[in-house]
Order: sequence, then structure tokens, then C-alpha cells
Amino acid sequence: MTTKVIFHGPRSVRLRYVLAGTAVAVGLIVMVGLLAGLLRPPCPEGVQPTAAPTSTKAPGTSSAPETPRTTTGQPATPDPAKPWLRMRLPEGQRPRHYRVRLHPRLGDEASQGFTGEVDIDLRLLAATKYILVHVKYLSVTNTIVLNKADSQPLPLANTFNYTENQFWVIELASELPANSEVQVQLQYRGGYFGIVGLYQSTYTEGGVKKFLATTKFQPTDARKAFPCLDEPQLKATYTAELVHQPEYTALANMPQQGSRENYTDNLVLTRFQETRNMSTYLFCILISQFASMNRTSAEGDPFRVWAPQSLINQSIYALESGVRIQDFFSSWFNYSYESQFPKQDMAAIPDFPSGAMEHWGLITYRDTAMLFDEATGSASNKQRVVTVVAHELAHMWFGNLVTMVWWNDLWLNEGFASYFADIGADLIEPSWELRQQGFITTYISAFNADDVITSHPIIVDVETPQEITQIFDTITYSKGQAVLTQLEDFMGMDNFQLGLQDYLKANEFGVASTPQLYESLQKYSADNVTEFMDRWTRQMGFPLVTVAETADPDVLLLNQTWFLREPATRVNATASPFSYQWIIKLSYSSQNGSSSQMMRDQQMRLTVPGYRNFSQPLKFNLGQQGFYRVNYPTAGGMGSLTRSGLMLQY
Ligand SMILES: [Zn+2]
Repeated sequence: MTTKVIFHGPRSVRLRYVLAGTAVAVGLIVMVGLLAGLLRPPCPEGVQPTAAPTSTKAPGTSSAPETPRTTTGQPATPDPAKPWLRMRLPEGQRPRHYRVRLHPRLGDEASQGFTGEVDIDLRLLAATKYILVHVKYLSVTNTIVLNKADSQPLPLANTFNYTENQFWVIELASELPANSEVQVQLQYRGGYFGIVGLYQSTYTEGGVKKFLATTKFQPTDARKAFPCLDEPQLKATYTAELVHQPEYTALANMPQQGSRENYTDNLVLTRFQETRNMSTYLFCILISQFASMNRTSAEGDPFRVWAPQSLINQSIYALESGVRIQDFFSSWFNYSYESQFPKQDMAAIPDFPSGAMEHWGLITYRDTAMLFDEATGSASNKQRVVTVVAHELAHMWFGNLVTMVWWNDLWLNEGFASYFADIGADLIEPSWELRQQGFITTYISAFNADDVITSHPIIVDVETPQEITQIFDTITYSKGQAVLTQLEDFMGMDNFQLGLQDYLKANEFGVASTPQLYESLQKYSADNVTEFMDRWTRQMGFPLVTVAETADPDVLLLNQTWFLREPATRVNATASPFSYQWIIKLSYSSQNGSSSQMMRDQQMRLTVPGYRNFSQPLKFNLGQQGFYRVNYPTAGGMGSLTRSGLMLQY
């Protein structure tokens, strides 16, 4: 069942842009849908059948993109014989390889959008008559399914676009047996819709308007650029082929393959090497007239930055920070970047919907998140650049090398990238004490998002593209980072690092869900990782620990309660499998240093010999790594001023 996610509290800049983009897209869908509804009669079950086309259009031809069609609602219980009625792809379709050819029109020709061809090598685990691929705003002009056993085309009974669930449905004339290998060949046209999917971006240089084509897919917009099986667990290899004008430079995830080829009299074709296994949302291209600068990583592979010629010098800070951080992560994870991908490019895009996107081998940034002018830039600009660069580079391991099975575990990507952003940035700017800053800013942001009953657990069920987009939020990013920081404290940094190295190696080029993470970490922890972490990731909220004095001068009574901004709203909250109680690693000061103890129940008596005579007030949550608040007693030698000072720390 799908959990409704409701926003609240402060939002990251990234999220605001995602939401703005979503609002534009939704508006567009509504407008186009209304128009289409006026022009076409309603169709049973929302299916708009079309005869299987037989003609093949020449590559490079174009026309206006097809208008998305209206559909009726999805039945509550989809008919199993009609797999397009379900939101998710049918199980048993396994993509192995994509060949993607894209020809985006730029400048005066941009109204024509783009044309494309994709060949998808697919294994069908179960016997079936249907093959489903995701499409959105694409007009498929030709569909061929080859039987790979004999390279012969299979007869098709029908093809149709089921827009409700964003599927191109191919009905074969007869059922294919289990374990068939096929190649689905599709030709199509598409248009530019906002700044997601495949889109055109513009900028002015020397008074001249310039154009570029790039892509941004996460989470579910790859289907706007090429038909694909657009779910993160369906990893495959890719070869990209880009058609463009010769004065442009084409980039993709991998290095160029061979020399450019002449495509027509005034166009060239650039081919790229095959990627490793990766998710659809990590595919990226950039066709631009950008300038570049380069460095070399410790293992000798190229690390480049790309920006408009007039701004390229502002890329130096990101370039020099980036190559050092990438080398540092290669060492820290005991898994080199170069054994994943043979090059790294980072590009500053004038129009970009989020702060940056971790496309494997071709990271794209909103220009302000990558460019820094040493002459005029502020320290906070600089901090933003180094933190975003470190965040994106951390994704090469957490998200790209090992990807979450499904979006409900998005925190495995974003929690880790946020956690390692501060560690990577700290390497470059140690005097800024970014980890210590994070303990305050990240935690406060997460507390403010998570102290209402409309919050949600870090791990949350999502299914539709809209639900998936909604969880790119403060809970996933900041609370995700906070509970990982707390887990580091729970296990100790050395054991945490060894556990993460095990997790990356065990799941390399594959997918993992939260239990696989805990399985690796458990190998290096004496305490039960799952029991501890489930209470922080599978229920929303966090505890307030109230400290009370007792008649015994050496004993304190601790009581944990769910901290809510409006405690009276608790009666309306959904039930938690853990009854809104947490396992807390309580750290506290003692006369000679610090101690810690696990709090597993609602109440606990804690003996701290002689605490009333300590020269400094007794303090809990030392280092502020625990994701909980503390309410101190007013009596017992703890003056109100000291008490308020301690409380203000959170
Ligand atoms: Zn991220």
C-alpha cells in the first residue's frame, strides 16, 4: 500500500526546484490532457490502440511530438492478463543492454524536439505475449521485436500507448516461451518539456545566444528521452550515440569510441564506449560548445570540468577539490573510482532543475553549485560548491555502484551522499569544521521536519512518480544523514568503515535494500544493528529524553517520549510498529570524561556517582551525534541559565 507523504517544515533548495518542475509538468499534463480530451472520444480502460506500424522512417526526420493522450482511471484490482494496468513493470523483463541514439535539434530547430532510436536487449524470464517499456511524451514511430535466437522479427498483434501508467505496450502475435531473448527496436520522436528529460538549455556569451542539449532523469524521466524499463533495479549496460553539428562537443557517461563519423553533409555521429551495469536514471548526455579544464586522478584517469568559455576559470575550485575528494573516497571505501568508470566529467549547466545530479562519469550541476569566483565569491558560496561536489562524488559509490532496489530505500543513496558530503568537504577545508557544523545545521533541519505527525519514516512505501519525487525531502537527506552519523557513533568509525566497504563490495554493480546494508555492518558490530536502526528508519519522529533527579543523589531517572511540536496531535498519529519508542545510545559527561549506556525502554535509572558535585554541569548527548533532544532538571545545582544553554544546543 502506498503511504501518503505530506510536506512540512523547511525544504532544501533542491527540493524546491524539483517541486517547481513538478508543478510545471503537472500543469502541462492537465492542459494537454484537457485538449486531448476535447479532441478524442474516451477509450475503454484508457487504452489508445494503434496498429503496429510497418514503415521505417529515415533517421533524422522529425515532426511535432505526439500529444499525450487522456486515459480513464486505473481499476482498483488490475486484470492480471493486462499488465499495463499495473503501475509497475511486469516482473520477469530483464534488460541487458541499450543502444541509444539521440539527435536533439537546437536553436532555430528546437521546436522540432528530438528524434531517437533505441535497441533494448531483453530477457523474458516468464512466458508472455506482452512486452512493456516506459515512455512519456514520446511518439513511437516504429516497433520491431527481433528474436535473438534467429535474428528474425516476431509478428506483432498490436502496439499501443497506455499513458495512465506511461507504457508503450507491445502485443506479440503469439506467446514467447520463458527465458526468450529478444531485441526491441524502437524509433521515436520527442519534444522538450521544461528542464527534465532531454532538454535544451541556453546562455549568452559575448552577446551571442548559445544552446546546449543535456539530460536530467532522476527519478522517472529517462522515459521522456528514450523508451526504457525505467525502474532503478533494472540495471543494464548502455552505448550512447549522439548526432550533432560538428562545432559542438558531445559527452556521455563513457569516453568517446573511435573518431566521429560523418552522418549527413552537416551533421556528425559520436559514439561512446559501453558503460558498466547501471540504472536508467544515471544515463546522461551533454552536447555543447563548452570549454574544459582537466586534471588526472591518482590512478591516472582524466578528471575534467566543463563550462562556458567565459566562466571556465571559475571551475578551478570544483576541479581541484573534486579530484582530491574522488581519490580520498577511492581510498576510504577501499574501492577505486577508476575500477568503476574510466573518466570523470563535471559540467555547469545554466538551467538545471536541482543542485546537481550524480550521473556516472558525467556529473551535471546547476552552474552556481559548481562555479566559484575567487575574486568575488563568498565563503558560503565556496562551502556550497565543495559540499555539493563531495555529495555527488559520494554517489559514485552510494547510488551508482550500489543502487537501492526501489525508491522506498532512497535514503541508501541520499542519506549516505549527505553524510559523506561533509566528510569529503572537510578534507578540502578542515578549518571550517564542516562535520561539526553539520551536527547543528543538519540536525536542526531534520528535527524541524520530523516533529509533526505529518512526517514520515525514512523508509516509506512509494509507487507513483509523484510519490517518488516527494521523498526527495529533508527526512531522506538530513534525517538520513543524522541517523548514519548516529550509527557511526553506535559502531565506532573504524567498524562502520569496514562494514561499508563490505556492503559496497558485496553489492557492486547491483542493487541492495536496507537489510543488505545491516547484514554487512553486523559483521563488524557486537550490538544488534537492525534492532537499533529499525526504530530510527521505520517509524517517524524522535525522542525527548527527560532527566529527573531522584532521592538518591547519585541516581537520575530518565524518561523517553515522542517529541512533537504539538503534543496534542498525537491522538491523530498513525500507529508505529515500535510504539514511538527508540533505542538510544545515551552518552553523558562524568567527572573524569564521558560514559555511555543504551536506553532500551521508556524509563531508565542511571547511576552517575557524585554528579551533583561535578565542576561542570552534567551533559547528555556528547558530541551531539544522537538524534534526540534532552530536557534537563531545574533543580540539583543546574542553574536555569546553564540549563537553557544546554537546551539551546538543540
Ligand atoms: Zn544526492
